[in-house]
Amino acid sequence: FLVIISYWNRKVINANHLLKEAKLDIEQKNRELEKLATTDKLTSLYNRRKIDELLQIEANRSNRFNHTFGVVILDLDYFKKVNDKFGHQVGDKVLKELSTLLAAQIRKTDFIGRFGGEEFLIICPESDAVSIYKLMEAIRLELSGQCFTTVGTLTVSMGISIFKPGDDIDSLIKRADTALYKAKDEGRN
Ligand code: GH3
Ligand code: MG
Ligand code: MG
Repeated sequence: FLVIISYWNRKVINANHLLKEAKLDIEQKNRELEKLATTDKLTSLYNRRKIDELLQIEANRSNRFNHTFGVVILDLDYFKKVNDKFGHQVGDKVLKELSTLLAAQIRKTDFIGRFGGEEFLIICPESDAVSIYKLMEAIRLELSGQCFTTVGTLTVSMGISIFKPGDDIDSLIKRADTALYKAKDEGRN
């Protein structure tokens, strides 16, 4: 009887061990899937889907706790010329290099994602227009000293908007977009 009990006991222990390994494996795969679903392939920044989700979270927080936040849309100036002159692959490299630079420049609490082709969106929680403007001016200055592979220096234009009572994501983004196009009209950079 004791031999049978200890035999079954060993079997149960082995099965538990296998289950534990399978659980760790599934958790690892889930983390990989989550990363794939939220990351832009070229730049390794957040993708549009994740950025939309983060925007909604910040808007909800802002409405609930009366805290404000801001967004920046950043668009490369004359990027079509880069592709035309140096080719799409060089253009892609520029996008990667710019992404690395931007990710290093923003604050630890900010989020950045690729919003469209050569447009990026930065979310700045708990920030007002003045602090975001200062941060973007610092990024603009940093960029002026940056030499992109093959291409050299490039400039960007940015539009900032701050979430206000009554705003939704669309109205917030629309104001940032309008500001961006004003910056483009007024000479870019
Ligand atoms: P501006 O914004 O200053 O008005 O001029 P622009 O030349 O940047 O104008 P526009 O925004 O119209 O052009 C964006 C270009 O970005 C067009 C497209 O070829 C290029 N682009 C978009 N996505 C990618 C990408 O993933 N890789 C590369 N290499 N180019 C891209
Ligand atoms: Mg554009
Ligand atoms: Mg552009």
